[in-house]
Amino acid sequence: MDHLPRPESSIGLLMKVPFVAKIPWDYGDFKTFPSRHGFPQNSEGAIDAKNHSIESLCDLMQSWLYFDFLECVLGHKIDQDNFVRTSRDSEGGTQLLVDSTPLDSLINRLEAKRKRNLRRLPLLDEVWTATKQLETQLEPITDTTLAEIAFSLRLPRPNTAGITHDNCTKLQCKANNVNQGNYTNRHVKEGCSRKMIHVPHEELVGILRNGRIPVVQIVETCQGNIKLEVKPAQASTKYTAI
Ligand SMILES: [Zn+2]
Repeated sequence: MDHLPRPESSIGLLMKVPFVAKIPWDYGDFKTFPSRHGFPQNSEGAIDAKNHSIESLCDLMQSWLYFDFLECVLGHKIDQDNFVRTSRDSEGGTQLLVDSTPLDSLINRLEAKRKRNLRRLPLLDEVWTATKQLETQLEPITDTTLAEIAFSLRLPRPNTAGITHDNCTKLQCKANNVNQGNYTNRHVKEGCSRKMIHVPHEELVGILRNGRIPVVQIVETCQGNIKLEVKPAQASTKYTAI
């Protein structure tokens, strides 16, 4: 989205967001917008995503959290055409994108209005409360704002290790996979010739086959050697996930 901050040295292209919003603003309560448009909400306001197609959910999210949010904050209907631009897609066709360029002037006008204190903006408190609720729901995932995440993701990262994505597929990134051909294990002492120890393979596979979580334990034998044991996790097992 063009309103998100972007570092000057950004490596990525401008984030393109397809315009998919079809639900018009209805001047209603911000929190119950989904219920009024065919997306029933439970007592906490949540929607059961399973009951809807991705396309209709995208329509809802953009209509509600972008356009409805904006209109509630501004307190008036906006002309959506001002927020949409046409762009060429990779196949030579055209695509409608959300364009946040008009936001700057709208926010400036809102700020000026607030300073003059001409009138109380309708619904603003309600929108504010709902936004805070959304933030609280996002809190377990991150303690930064979405704008900060978007900014950080666009910073160019140094690639001192010469990592390449040439062998990656759409579903799997192999850039950080170990190349077994040239990988050398590091030992506590140089020149160490101790043999590698392994998790018992059959037991591990058996646990996974039973749908359990294998937990590896480091055990010292009576001869003072180290071995690895694997057990299925119990409800009371404490373990570190790596
Ligand atoms: Zn990759």
